[in-house]
Amino acid sequence: MKLARVAVAAALLVSATPSSPGSAQTKRYDLAIVNGTVIDGTGRPGVLQDIAIKDGRIAALGRVAVGDAVETIDAKGLIVAPGFIDVHTHADNLATRADAANFVRMGVTTIVAGNCGSSALDVSAALAAVRERPGAVNFATLIGHNTVRSAVMGSANRAPTAAELARMRSLVWKGMADGAVGFSTGLQYVPGTYAQVMEITELARAAANAGGIYASHMRNEGTALEDAIAETIRVGEMTGARVQISHLKVDSPNRWGASQKALAMIDAARQKGIDVRADQYAYTAASSTLGIRFPSWALEGGQSKIAERLNDPAMWQKIKTEMAGLLAERGLRDLSFAVVAMHRADPSLNGLSMQQIASRQRGSDSADAQFEAARTMMLAGGASMVYHFMSDADVDRIMRHPEVGIASDAGVIGFGDGVPHPRGYGNNARVLGAYVRGRRVISLEEAIRKMTSLPAGHFKFANRGTIRSGYAADLVVFDPAQVADIATFEKPHGYAAGIPYVLVNGEIVVKNGTQTEARPGQVLANTIIEKR
Ligand SMILES: [Zn+2]
Repeated sequence: MKLARVAVAAALLVSATPSSPGSAQTKRYDLAIVNGTVIDGTGRPGVLQDIAIKDGRIAALGRVAVGDAVETIDAKGLIVAPGFIDVHTHADNLATRADAANFVRMGVTTIVAGNCGSSALDVSAALAAVRERPGAVNFATLIGHNTVRSAVMGSANRAPTAAELARMRSLVWKGMADGAVGFSTGLQYVPGTYAQVMEITELARAAANAGGIYASHMRNEGTALEDAIAETIRVGEMTGARVQISHLKVDSPNRWGASQKALAMIDAARQKGIDVRADQYAYTAASSTLGIRFPSWALEGGQSKIAERLNDPAMWQKIKTEMAGLLAERGLRDLSFAVVAMHRADPSLNGLSMQQIASRQRGSDSADAQFEAARTMMLAGGASMVYHFMSDADVDRIMRHPEVGIASDAGVIGFGDGVPHPRGYGNNARVLGAYVRGRRVISLEEAIRKMTSLPAGHFKFANRGTIRSGYAADLVVFDPAQVADIATFEKPHGYAAGIPYVLVNGEIVVKNGTQTEARPGQVLANTIIEKR
């Protein structure tokens, strides 16, 4: 390690900001972060160190002398960590929302889009758009199975013909050649859900041959969790792909505790040499539509068709029976786990559970009264919902597993737009605040490793995810005593607290807790094919 000039008194360093104009050329470094506790992302304990930055890279670690850098950040009492790498996002809209404020304000410096099977079909154009209008964060994308399958087969509920499979394979290959870092599936969604494991294997192989990862929103996350994990691992075994299980969770109360088995399956696969890992978000609730609680056939054909069925008493009886059946399968007896995030027709219901709404509107909180309330809301255009159906014990157990990273499952959010899941603003800060400082589920060093070197290694982002000389200067400076998520399910638009500085490629994107105009994000593209 190349050390900078030997220390001068720390007290002098504090006042070493910024130098007189015109002197930049004479300075050894562009920027220095001094007096901070550096936690380097590997899991090693923190060390009191200064970091010097030059041309977007970490130039030196150790002591940086006063006056050696054009600009100096005093990080006394603060943690300096590698910028967080969020490998599970839906930030496909980065080119139109370049600030990526919800991400940078929680310390995220690199995002991966194209998850859950849904991506740009033309990866070349998507990456060109980001290169043309860079974001505040670095950007990579996967090529999505649902996107590719829709392009070739529409929403057909059948296996592909040989010609269709070949066409899909060539689209995946093209996506990889254009710079995608892997292939994603979303096997709970149409049309991915119609694909069998052989189709997925063929397409994942095309990505793996180009050096890509296979990331999967699995077919099931509760009642058939183990089958879904087995299927995902099988794809890795058949193709040699690195495998990422997306947003690992147990989403059915009658399966709570199944995380133990799920993690054991991951361990067993790794023992056999299959490189499978996972990510999670740090919340016990998911977000989705009210419609997802209805049988899917009842939702075909748009709102007027839906209304027709819900207004037909015999049909409604059948729908209600099926709704109860779908809940019972998961160990749920009514809709009390469901809270309204946004019901545009009557916002006074926002924040209430279906049980509360039934009581208020019908004087009964029975399951039947809740279904009736849901029917009324569907007839009025539906609602976005928050579903509290995971257990703390599962979330904690998954978090303690060393091969599970932290990822948000969020997109780039316009501040104040709609009622998104709070994870988009708070996920990383919530881990550092509630899970590390509050409940001590994992150590600070381990939490940072899960947000940095672990995902960087699995997704093969070279020279990122660790604080090391020569690595990209993606850095986050936070207060371990203050860092916290502010966004809640009731008030989701709130930036994370306790994160005064964030740097991307050596440029300051968050300064004194406020976002700057800098948009230094780079495109992280797969280059394996180019290099061949
Ligand atoms: Zn997903």
